[in-house]
Amino acid sequence: AADPAGTLRADGIVMRFGGIKALDGASIRIRPGDTIGLLGPNGSGKTTLVNCLTGILTPTEGRIVFNGQDITRRTPRQRAHGGIVRSFQNLRLMPDLTVAENVAVGLAGLAQPLRAAEWRDRLTTALAAQRLEPYAHSPLGQMPYGVMKRVEVARALVSRPRILLLDEPAAGLGGGDWEPLAETLKTAQEQMGFGLLLIDHNIEFVRALVNRLVVLATGQVLVEGSPETVLTDPEVGRVYLGS
Ligand code: ADP
Repeated sequence: AADPAGTLRADGIVMRFGGIKALDGASIRIRPGDTIGLLGPNGSGKTTLVNCLTGILTPTEGRIVFNGQDITRRTPRQRAHGGIVRSFQNLRLMPDLTVAENVAVGLAGLAQPLRAAEWRDRLTTALAAQRLEPYAHSPLGQMPYGVMKRVEVARALVSRPRILLLDEPAAGLGGGDWEPLAETLKTAQEQMGFGLLLIDHNIEFVRALVNRLVVLATGQVLVEGSPETVLTDPEVGRVYLGS
């Protein structure tokens, strides 16, 4: 097919947990430069789909294809080395270390060790992309929550993702606090050209960032398209209201 280099695809994913069918034939395509918001009511399969893309879960049926290769059986580490990166919510931020040190943690898992100059360059670029330079040498624990969220993103950016997957990057950020994160993510995405897929319940935040929405309902893609078409689709309103 005509997928550009660096495209990540999930084709017909079924994921069963015992008697539960969390995904029921879901497909998605993320190309370099795409910015996609994954929406859907609680329990619709969003996290499960992202876990299948990163390799935390192996789907019961269907294929994950990256850059033309079937990666369905590859480990999360192998996929990360190939450039499929998710934000490191599992790798907790360390409050006693500085902002820069926390970002540098993202360099630890790379496939090849970097030369010092490259290491410094990536760190500097990621700090700049998330507008973290003023705080670089401050202990992370003293930073406001919005800064910590940008540190999480910067930590993912140092590995130079080709596809970046973010699960609720704006969670816990109230009115206005998500705006710097949306801005810095958008700028980084435009400069670095990675494909971005994010799950977030903050529709304003999602709208500020993405040019395509995919809506899941009961493990299937219900609608996809531009934010304008999707958000005014009566079917989408219906699944969110649960009626
Ligand atoms: P969402 O992210 O859209 O809220 P999830 O992907 O977390 O949805 O969950 C989809 C469905 O799969 C839910 O019914 C959930 O309870 C179930 N599920 C998810 N993970 C597991 C698991 N590890 N074991 C059993 N059921 C699970």
